[in-house]
Amino acid sequence: MQLRYNYRAYPDAAQRRALARAFGCARVVWNDCLRDRREAHAAGLPYVTSAELSRLRITQAKRTEERAWLADVSAVILQQSLRDLDTAYKNFFDGLTGKRQGRKVGPPRYKSKKDTRQSIRLTTNAFSLQDNGTVYVAKVGNLKVMWSRRLPAPPTSLTITKDSSGRYFLSFVVDTEPDILPRLETDAGIDLGLSAFAVLSDGTKISAPRFLRRAEKKLKRLQRELSRKQKGSKNRAKACIEVARQHARVADRRRDWHHKVSTQIIRDNQAVYVEDLAVSALGRTRLARSVHDAGWSAFVGMLEYKAALHGRTFAKVDRAFPSSQVCSVCGFRDGPKPLHVRQWTCGACGTVHDRDLNAARNVLCEGRRIVAAGRAETLNACGAPVRRAHVPAQRGEAGSRRKGQPTQAGIPGR
Ligand SMILES: [Zn+2]
Repeated sequence: MQLRYNYRAYPDAAQRRALARAFGCARVVWNDCLRDRREAHAAGLPYVTSAELSRLRITQAKRTEERAWLADVSAVILQQSLRDLDTAYKNFFDGLTGKRQGRKVGPPRYKSKKDTRQSIRLTTNAFSLQDNGTVYVAKVGNLKVMWSRRLPAPPTSLTITKDSSGRYFLSFVVDTEPDILPRLETDAGIDLGLSAFAVLSDGTKISAPRFLRRAEKKLKRLQRELSRKQKGSKNRAKACIEVARQHARVADRRRDWHHKVSTQIIRDNQAVYVEDLAVSALGRTRLARSVHDAGWSAFVGMLEYKAALHGRTFAKVDRAFPSSQVCSVCGFRDGPKPLHVRQWTCGACGTVHDRDLNAARNVLCEGRRIVAAGRAETLNACGAPVRRAHVPAQRGEAGSRRKGQPTQAGIPGR
């Protein structure tokens, strides 16, 4: 399976300029090619092929006066930008024809200089890992990188991003073998909620840690301050950066915490079931803020790939399944409950239920049933199909690779 490994990079002033140039060129190629395809479509002409665009918008464009600066950056970046546009189109078309499952994706959009997140993608012929611990990037130079953990194998591609708070990150894609953990007899149903972050079917309640809530409070305060600053003023620009920094800090902490919790759950259980929440639908309701803050979908994504990585079973329970209405003891369907009802008594057997715990137990039963019926979306790693996707690796797991796996030489691990 393919995993992503992210590291912070510290380019110097000249490298930052070179990267800004590369971000700009990648964006221009994307926009030029997108415009050609849109115009052809509007004029009723056939879809412009990538080969044609590559010749016209990269190779030939370099020879024109207004696009001569495209030659200042690595051609790999430009080709990759075009390839990414192709992928965006493919996802869009597959969504239209029903070949692609899940949420519909819109057609590709133009990129703006003002986008908060800038990125370029490189294949192995445009970057290399140096013995002194730096990463060489074509036409940019040797980037200083903070190797927070070891890469388990030579990377196959690299994405360089700059986020809204001005930080640079290198994200490597690495092919890894699953790291199967010893079999356990335990399994768990998980109810994701707002009162507690998660409730497990064995009764464990996991609430968001205090430091996360504190960081979120500070973010709210900064945002209030920002809204009082005059538009266009220097103080507003400063406050903007401060808000972006705090956002990044909160997101980092939340992600680290999600990693910790998801690793623990996957290590402790042979099978894990969660309710497939309609997060995007909930996000449009009055609960929007707390829903997005909780970051459920990122967390569920972590559970899913860690299950695949460690040979555990993972399944999502259909969101139409009435986990909060059915009594987990006798199976009586007690009817819908408004969100504020935290406890209820079963009308048939008289059991007093904690809403979330009862839901988690129901998710467990339903999950077991789904897996037994062979309808699990992701089965365990023993030969069963596992979704191939780029997923972020967890912190620290790189040190526990299986024996005999190649390790990239020259990368100082900690
Ligand atoms: Zn009952």
